[in-house]
Amino acid sequence: MHLVLARLPDAPPGPRGLSLFLVPKFDEDGSAGRRAGPPQARPAPSGGSEPHEVGSVGVRSQVHCERIEEKMGIHASPTCVMRFDEAAASLVGEPGKGLNAMFVMMNAARLLVGLQGIGLLDAAWQKANAYAQERRQMRAPGSASKAGAADVIALHPAIQRILQTQRAWIDAGRVIAYRTALELDTQKHHPEATQRDVAARWCSLVTPVLKSAWTEQAFTGASACLQVFGGHGYVREWGIEQHVRDARVAMIYEGTNEIQAIDLLVRKTLPDGALSLQGLLTELEAEPGQSPRTRQALQAFGAFVREQVVPHTSASDTAPDQAFWLADDFLRALALLLMAWAWDRLAAAPQHNATAHAAFWRWVWPEFGMRMSMMNTTVSVGQSAPAML
Ligand SMILES: Cc1cc2nc3c(=O)[nH]c(=O)nc-3n(C[C@H](O)[C@H](O)[C@H](O)COP(=O)(O)OP(=O)(O)OC[C@H]3O[C@@H](n4cnc5c(N)ncnc54)[C@H](O)[C@@H]3O)c2cc1C
Repeated sequence: MHLVLARLPDAPPGPRGLSLFLVPKFDEDGSAGRRAGPPQARPAPSGGSEPHEVGSVGVRSQVHCERIEEKMGIHASPTCVMRFDEAAASLVGEPGKGLNAMFVMMNAARLLVGLQGIGLLDAAWQKANAYAQERRQMRAPGSASKAGAADVIALHPAIQRILQTQRAWIDAGRVIAYRTALELDTQKHHPEATQRDVAARWCSLVTPVLKSAWTEQAFTGASACLQVFGGHGYVREWGIEQHVRDARVAMIYEGTNEIQAIDLLVRKTLPDGALSLQGLLTELEAEPGQSPRTRQALQAFGAFVREQVVPHTSASDTAPDQAFWLADDFLRALALLLMAWAWDRLAAAPQHNATAHAAFWRWVWPEFGMRMSMMNTTVSVGQSAPAML
């Protein structure tokens, strides 16, 4: 079965003209091969080449794999160029509502790709951490080894910083992912509508953040883990270069990370004047065990969105592109806030990783201030974009 987005003959241009179709590999009644043109909703005019008979399953639809794509990484998951010639198709949902229908699948896929990011980052970390405990190179500062002996590279601050930073991302990412899994269940099964709504808000706002921030970290973090191997990291047999290649696509598929940021700010935050977002921030703040630093940041972000982002972006006649310039920084800032919340929760657990916790505040969290500063600049310069073309 192939799910295909295509246009009906009189469909308008743009996304609103897209409908979703189901194109079977085999057509039970044998009519597929006799239809002409791109995927057609049934009934369709007849004509075209003779179908290929395949016995009791019916006839083969005119669906062809033109070629397998040669990709950067994920070689075990082939993708290909498909050609749909004279293939019969059944319409799924309403005409022109193809994207809505597809998003049912896309939402799950976005979360899974976010999890893929966390998993790949952890796999890269495990390889790099093991290597760093074995590889000896130079003396670490303050080394207790005997004169002339080299230390394992895990003792060098630069290597510790790389490893601990990734651990900070992995552990926080897991907390956010597990919480999202709980919210998905609550959204679906809770008997009270208010609780279902609160859970739906979490899923809606956090999904693009998880997808975007943790796939970006999977790639940049796996690359940092490759660095731990030095020259060996670049040699295929160590396996770390595969993680770097495999992770790259996650920033692209199931909606590129730029589109996730636009989804979060333009589609999900601004239309209700950021009420949903404020609800999420209040929910995070109200959780027990939040550190003063996290609480202060949640409040600062909420105030900035309320007082700066919403007023500036709703003046659509003077700053129509403002929200789009802000979107990436906005998503990153929310990702870091969620991480701060997650690390406060982890810190309450007796066996939490105190080193990674410290690494979060030292090497990851400062980006929050940078993103706020970038957004402040964007808001203050208004519409004027950097001259580009
Ligand atoms: C390995 C792999 C497997 C895939 N599998 C499937 C599959 O099974 N089914 C399927 O349907 N698709 C699949 N895709 C396609 C994938 O979903 C798209 O490649 C992806 O959504 C990006 O679309 P695009 O390639 O058309 O890029 P474009 O939309 O052309 O984007 C190019 C660049 O412009 C940016 N951009 C575009 N529009 C905007 C905007 N409005 N604002 C800001 N930036 C923008 C993008 O972020 C990107 O950086 C797959 C892709 C890959 C690489």
